[in-house]
Amino acid sequence: MKFYIETFGCQMNDRDSLIMTQILEQAGYGQGAGILDADVIVINTCSIRGKAEQKAYSLIGSLRKHKLANPATILIVTGCVAQQEGAAMVSRMGHVDMVLGPQAIYGLIDHLETVKGTGESLILTDQSKKFAIPPFLPDIHHSTPHKRFVTIMQGCNNFCTYCIVPFTRGREVSRSPADIIAEVQHLISLGVKEITLLGQNVNSYGLDQPADSRTSFPQLLREVAAIEGLMRLRFTTSNAKDLSPELMDCFRDLDNLCLHFHLPMQSGSNEILERMNRKYTVADYLVLVDGLRTVAPDISITTDVIVGFPNETDADFMGTMALMEQVRYDSAFSFIYSNRPPALSCDFADDISKEEKSRRLALFQKRQREITVEQHQRFIGREFDLMIEGESKMGHGQWSGRSTHNIIVNFHSGVQYKPGDMVRVVVTEGLMNSLRAELIES
Ligand code: SF4
Repeated sequence: MKFYIETFGCQMNDRDSLIMTQILEQAGYGQGAGILDADVIVINTCSIRGKAEQKAYSLIGSLRKHKLANPATILIVTGCVAQQEGAAMVSRMGHVDMVLGPQAIYGLIDHLETVKGTGESLILTDQSKKFAIPPFLPDIHHSTPHKRFVTIMQGCNNFCTYCIVPFTRGREVSRSPADIIAEVQHLISLGVKEITLLGQNVNSYGLDQPADSRTSFPQLLREVAAIEGLMRLRFTTSNAKDLSPELMDCFRDLDNLCLHFHLPMQSGSNEILERMNRKYTVADYLVLVDGLRTVAPDISITTDVIVGFPNETDADFMGTMALMEQVRYDSAFSFIYSNRPPALSCDFADDISKEEKSRRLALFQKRQREITVEQHQRFIGREFDLMIEGESKMGHGQWSGRSTHNIIVNFHSGVQYKPGDMVRVVVTEGLMNSLRAELIES
């Protein structure tokens, strides 16, 4: 039996698709060459913005003919649209056999047997029961030899008013430190060199555990960083409201913790931050940025920004532009606000036109691109180690690696590298999306 998984959205979904791959492979399924070559098709969906949801629905819709011609094929929809839609997905797309929320993917093999046995569609999106993330599954084979995401928790309790995640991924549930450490040790034994710890808000890791046996996120970072053979450690994503001095100190103390911090600001207006329920002010945020740059002056800071939040005024938007100027991010992900029912901001009055929201996004992105290039100049003449990602898209003997700052660096070399190899370079040029460098040592 063959399977095929199509993944939309964030690293959490990539991670869930990997878990489903492990589960299916351990049950003897083989990877299909393509979506039409599979007996089991999984569409792992994202609903963070309207466009992502539409993409998933159009793919699912396009499989109707294939399903009618191949009734034995099982079509499964997972991820955040599955959780959000549940039974509505099957009424809208009658050719879907199974709808699994993020908490239900771990029982995939049993669910497959149920559907095969009954021939009925199966919808599992109940998040009311106490949920625990099952222990990790050892890899039997995987394609990425040098770096991997490791989920440390699932769900979020913050209810930022624009965000659908608390409704689709449920309440915060942390994995046990022992299981996380066992998985990282297992991956290192397979040759993995870089680990990224993953969570919707990693800063609140462990808060769902009993106080007397709780491990905080900074403690977990220190334990993972101490694992023998781990060359690089990263983590994502953090809500600024929970960024502690203990976490900042990790950047001073842990040599293998990479010097990059993704710290979403979302807006530079206190009025908007309040209506987003972000629980910090612009002044709080700036104190955190100063704190990070004090313990790690060379740290790279990146962010997420939403423009066009309901009733965002010109002054609110100028606050966002001003915060960008003050922090001078190395890069930023920026989006126009998207209504995501049942997120709370859906009912907020909004008289800002689409054109005005697009104008603000364009202004923000233009200035951020300029700042990115200006910021990249600080690396010229500096030497640092790169972890090879692979051959550069620039071709002609060019190779790409990632710096500790999470910036792509391209350099020329006649040596044949493999992903995960380390080289030392000196930077010669700071460009928009990358740095150019010369090889010093392989
Ligand atoms: S912290 Fe806020 S934006 Fe991030 S996942 Fe949680 S609710 Fe969504």
